Amino acid sequence: MSLSLIGIILVQVYWFNTSFKNNDEQFRFHVTQVIGNVADKLQKEEAFSFIDKYKKLRDSIGKEPEKSDFLEFGYYQRDSRTNETIIYSNNIISEDFNVSSSFFDKKIDSIKRLKNFSSKRVTEVYSNKDIDKSQINKDISPDIKIQKSGKLDILENAQFEIFFKDIAAAKPLQERVSKEKLQKLLEKELKEYEVRTPFEFGIYSNGLATKVKSDRFKFDKNATYSIPIFTDNEGNNKYELLVSFPHKERFLFSELVGITLLSVIFTLIIVIAYTSALNQLIRQRQISEIKTDFINNMTHEFKTPIATINLALDAIKNPKVIEDKEKINRYLQMIRDENKRMHAQVENVLRISKLEKKELEISKESNAIHDIIEDAIEHVNLIIEDRQGTITTHFEASRDTVLINDVHFTNVIVNILDNAIKYSPEEPKIDIYTENIKDFVIIKVKDQGLGMSKIAQKRIFEKFYREHTGDLHNVKGHGLGLAYVKRIVEDHNGEIFVESEKGKGSTFIIKIPLIN
Ligand code: ADP
Repeated sequence: MSLSLIGIILVQVYWFNTSFKNNDEQFRFHVTQVIGNVADKLQKEEAFSFIDKYKKLRDSIGKEPEKSDFLEFGYYQRDSRTNETIIYSNNIISEDFNVSSSFFDKKIDSIKRLKNFSSKRVTEVYSNKDIDKSQINKDISPDIKIQKSGKLDILENAQFEIFFKDIAAAKPLQERVSKEKLQKLLEKELKEYEVRTPFEFGIYSNGLATKVKSDRFKFDKNATYSIPIFTDNEGNNKYELLVSFPHKERFLFSELVGITLLSVIFTLIIVIAYTSALNQLIRQRQISEIKTDFINNMTHEFKTPIATINLALDAIKNPKVIEDKEKINRYLQMIRDENKRMHAQVENVLRISKLEKKELEISKESNAIHDIIEDAIEHVNLIIEDRQGTITTHFEASRDTVLINDVHFTNVIVNILDNAIKYSPEEPKIDIYTENIKDFVIIKVKDQGLGMSKIAQKRIFEKFYREHTGDLHNVKGHGLGLAYVKRIVEDHNGEIFVESEKGKGSTFIIKIPLIN
């Protein structure tokens, strides 16, 4: 799952990158088209305005032009089967006009001759006549003659384009195109190609900026596109049209933002769902481990009393014993004791589950915490003596009246003391400190036992948690004691922490608010 998740994320990143590149490529394509069109339009417009002027002039001259053929093509074909001869000829005729120099501004002083072209295309078919090329146009008339004539605008325009280009090249750039016109043209074209981002433009002449440029134009290698403009007759590019897009990246990104956001959201959902599922899985496994441990411990703890009770019953059944009242009483006492122990065990488990369900009613009265501690020490005194340990009290709190339930709070202290004894492999040395900080009383129970790891410190207050260490396993317990302690302390608006170092011992700190 992790692998495919990483895979999905990588694929998304790859997809995003490629899309971005594609968009960039498309953007470049569109912009190149746009500036190509703009350059083309500018050039054409310039040419058209020139030709237009000229045509008006030519029409106004009115006198007969001088004609001359200046190009003639002929094509001769003989078909031997039908005995036909086909002759095709094409004449291009030019008519000369005289144009005064004023038309071309002051640059040209002599009178110019302009030409008007037309073409005459003739197809002649001679049938059943044996003619050769030399006889054509002399005395034989053709059987079929098709004649077409027309204007030759292409040639004319080409002539003018070449002609005007030379003239236009001599003009300063700002007379050929204005900043406003260029801006409008670019705006229109860019809109047509859906390139909706601010742009700056400029015309450069031989690598240097000219006056025709927008105010904020700045050359940026990655976001500037260029194309030659106003190419002259020799194909030299003196001028270059540059268009730059200061917010290009943002524009490209904005086109992807919707879909990217969606994919990020979906990926995030997968990641969150995945981690929470994984977490649950790990937790479940831990809980199941802890529960198995708990069941093992419980059975272990029930086994001994059950065995003892069994033995005692067997002993009572013995005819020798049945007579001995004293022995019977001893065995009965044993059975009662073991029964009590089992009862206490069950009680323990029930208590925590009741607490869990908030069924346990805890009534609180004001009590002196020092008395409660003394009482708790009484409870563990026998065990301490048995283990040859000591409990030393350092009662430094001058105010010790708190609102607590004495039974439960005694249990709390007993549980902590019990652990301090249980988890001290040598003779247990326990110190109990109390002190006042602000309106709280702080109780510290310090032992010099096994201590615990940082991970254990975080989890000991969880239900069923027991630290897994080989040498700890001989210590009996269910992992419920501290969970109970925490519940009770929190129910008293208090807090509990632990400070511990492996091998050095632990200190449990309880903080309870005082009664004012
Ligand atoms: P139990 O003692 O029944 O296992 P507790 O809830 O009382 O359950 O304690 C939980 C765990 O905390 C113990 O299993 C032990 O690992 C650790 N622990 C508690 N008190 C101490 C202590 N004083 N020193 C070292 N470890 C302790």
